[in-house]
Amino acid sequence: MKKHQSDAKTVLNQLGRLSGFLTDLDTHASKEDCFDFPLKIIQKTMKFDVSVLYKVSNVIENWLILEVVKILDPKNLRLDLKEGRKLRLFLDNRDKRYVNEVSAFLDKRISTFNVPGMGSDIIGYVYLPESFGGAYLFGGDFCGHESSIKDYEVAGVEIMCNFLSTILLKTQFEQQAEYDTLTGLFNSGKIKQKLEVILKRFERKPLASACIAMGDIDFFKKVNDTYGHIQGDMVLKKVGDILSTSMRGVFDVAGRYGGEEFLLIFDETDEADAFQIIERLRKTIEETKFEKADKTGKILDNEFLRITMSFGISKFSKAAGINIATDWISQADSALYESKQNGRNRTTLFKGH
Ligand code: GH3
Ligand code: MG
Ligand code: MG
Repeated sequence: MKKHQSDAKTVLNQLGRLSGFLTDLDTHASKEDCFDFPLKIIQKTMKFDVSVLYKVSNVIENWLILEVVKILDPKNLRLDLKEGRKLRLFLDNRDKRYVNEVSAFLDKRISTFNVPGMGSDIIGYVYLPESFGGAYLFGGDFCGHESSIKDYEVAGVEIMCNFLSTILLKTQFEQQAEYDTLTGLFNSGKIKQKLEVILKRFERKPLASACIAMGDIDFFKKVNDTYGHIQGDMVLKKVGDILSTSMRGVFDVAGRYGGEEFLLIFDETDEADAFQIIERLRKTIEETKFEKADKTGKILDNEFLRITMSFGISKFSKAAGINIATDWISQADSALYESKQNGRNRTTLFKGH
């Protein structure tokens, strides 16, 4: 059976759409969205029966471990491949079935395959630096369709693989630049940027109201010293979870400001409300049973530890000389300092104005 004919002009046109997609790409898009559009475009224009995106999860000695990240298989031709499924391929022996995947990985380029009676296959290599998750392979399969693959189709897959690399890098760079990897909260750069946006609004609407709170874990050094750094990180992560789940949708933003310091923004909120929210949070943290782990990170059954946090709140005020984000943060910091001085596990409002 012959495969459906693709044509070079359509392929080129659609690749042009991909470049538009890349330019407009919302960097908050999930990985799912990032893969979907490019894969669908290529699936359609090349008339693949099945398209697969594999993540190269690992290379152990001569084994290549692939994980199926995404599969487009409208006719259910490859029931052996499911999203999340892992494949173990032997690099030396070139597993007959996946010879193409192995050679794309080894050559780090496009590899094509045409076996009479089995159909043809294109696999491309999608490169990402190790810190961003390493390599992916993209495969297009003309299942059971005998025909050699055209040069322009190989070129099309090559260009698409470059697009995929760029799309993934773009979203992951943005995410690394905005989020703290341990807690998943905004990092200090991003949270300061959010503050600057609010400050800009005060220039136009001076009577608007917003508060920030700086929170710091009490005696956190002792957690690290007593139970180790892994335990310390677990506590930070849990505190991050508590903070993000207690926030009120669009009004509140939480960020990790430094080691064990968190900065919270309460937009459109006055001091009394911010104080109430923070007090509720502080009590939640005081009452939380934090999981305990040994120094290797193994969770210990039925063993918990408790921590407390101190907070300082500052309301925006032009009169108090807040012009830039750091002015505002230092007011919250000095209220926090007062909480520490007065015995910790408490919330203090900045009273400089
Ligand atoms: P205080 O009640 O006055 O805030 O005392 P503290 O011990 O919490 O304060 P201090 O500033 O002396 O110690 C903060 C500790 O936080 C020191 C540092 O080892 C730890 N820390 C900072 N960042 C991290 C991190 O990412 N992971 C872990 N496990 N510990 C961290
Ligand atoms: Mg501190
Ligand atoms: Mg502390």
